[in-house]
Amino acid sequence: MSKPRLRFAPSPTGSLHIGGARTALFNWLWARKSGGTFVLRVEDTDVARNTRASVEAIFTALRWLGLDWDEGPSDADDDGGGPHGPYFQSKRVALYREYAERLVRSGHAYRCYCTPEDEDIARRAEADRRGVSVDKLVGWSFVSPWRDKDAELDKPYAIKLKAFAPESKELIQWKDLVLGTIKIPANSLRDEVLIRSNNPMPLYNFGCVVDDHTMAISHVIRGNDHVINTPTQILLYRALGAELPTFGHLPMLMKDESTKLSKRDGAVGVDQYDQQGYLPDGLLSYLVRFGWSFGNEELFTKAKLVELFDWSRVSKSNGIYDFKKCRVINQKFIAKIATVDELSKRVIPFLAKRELLVRDGHPRLIDAVTTVKHRADTLAALADEMDFYFRARPVIDEAAAAQLFKPDVADALDALAVFAEAAVPERDERSSPFADAKTALEDALRKKLEALALDMKVIGQPVRLALSGRTATPDLASMMLVLGPNVSALRLRDAAQRSRDAAAAT
Ligand code: GLU
Repeated sequence: MSKPRLRFAPSPTGSLHIGGARTALFNWLWARKSGGTFVLRVEDTDVARNTRASVEAIFTALRWLGLDWDEGPSDADDDGGGPHGPYFQSKRVALYREYAERLVRSGHAYRCYCTPEDEDIARRAEADRRGVSVDKLVGWSFVSPWRDKDAELDKPYAIKLKAFAPESKELIQWKDLVLGTIKIPANSLRDEVLIRSNNPMPLYNFGCVVDDHTMAISHVIRGNDHVINTPTQILLYRALGAELPTFGHLPMLMKDESTKLSKRDGAVGVDQYDQQGYLPDGLLSYLVRFGWSFGNEELFTKAKLVELFDWSRVSKSNGIYDFKKCRVINQKFIAKIATVDELSKRVIPFLAKRELLVRDGHPRLIDAVTTVKHRADTLAALADEMDFYFRARPVIDEAAAAQLFKPDVADALDALAVFAEAAVPERDERSSPFADAKTALEDALRKKLEALALDMKVIGQPVRLALSGRTATPDLASMMLVLGPNVSALRLRDAAQRSRDAAAAT
């Protein structure tokens, strides 16, 4: 058997929707799992709504997610030139025309010279015949008078598929990878336009089938909002004498039981998750649940998903999208799965947004991330937690300072500045593991506080505020280690000074 070929076929009318990302993920996963091929095809037939910016945004989002494609365009200007290209539908119009004319010749489709007015007239006539108003005309479909005339006129024509079969008892069926066997009565279908009279672009069902067929796609995996299109597509495969691919229709991301998730409900563009500081695999760990699960496991790297993924664990029920849950998954992903190295690289742009210019390889970066990775649900929050490490002077919470920097703590803060200079090691990448250094420093700090007869409960918060400007931070020893002996001492002395000045002010 030849290797599976799967595709993701976005229409570039906006940024990549999280539902689209989920669909891309399942296709990608099966391609990677099976050693098959993942094709990216851009369905840019809606000239009025397609934008170049959207093409670029979709590619950027897929790359950010790490869903790399084997065939397809590399950017909006470069078609990629793979063996089944072009991969932009707008560049394949000659092919659609050729296939449509072939279907006319084989009797599966026909040239229809009707105008929209002709259709209107027929609709009104039928409404009159039934004695109802046009908007109450249900269950009627326009049957073109050209359907069985093999006419070639010198007039523009649409090409239509002969699908209308009111007398048919046939059930069009397929074994869906996700939904099981689906049967749809053939008599529910209508003749469908394949190519309009005034536009060379194909209609969706036709372009999709011509491409899936000519691109040798073996698995068509998409959202279950497309189930309704599949019977017509099956008729098209039959008309072309082509083998059917395997279809799989994945559950929808819902706002509630009956409404699809929309822009109004929150962040639905993958780019928004990137901007907010989600990790790609954190987001994918949540999105994969819309169709697949593995026991109670919640956190998956892409490599793990490829290892575990299987169609037997795929579920069909639509799921309600929970923005909070998505964030919690991302937080757990940051805390438990992401490596400190990866977080260090990814947090840099978020530090830059705070005007903290920290380069990759900065001597304090890795240690800084180590101390706060359990405290952040996004990279933006991580950057916030790390802010005081990289500012020349921390931004002091003044309300807390008014409470905590009092004359009676000044001497203790000075004494701890001396301690910091002596006891806090300078760390670099060759230093002992952070946890070991932290245990040693905690020990030394405890002994120092005992020797100075200081109570951690009393002095802890002033020291915390002195080092970070904040009241909720990692533990004191961790902060001192990241800041190093000199910066720690400087901040403690600044705070001692403020504490004495507080006496002068009162
Ligand atoms: N362009 C279609 C969409 O974005 C593709 C559907 C399909 O995968 O067949 O919904």
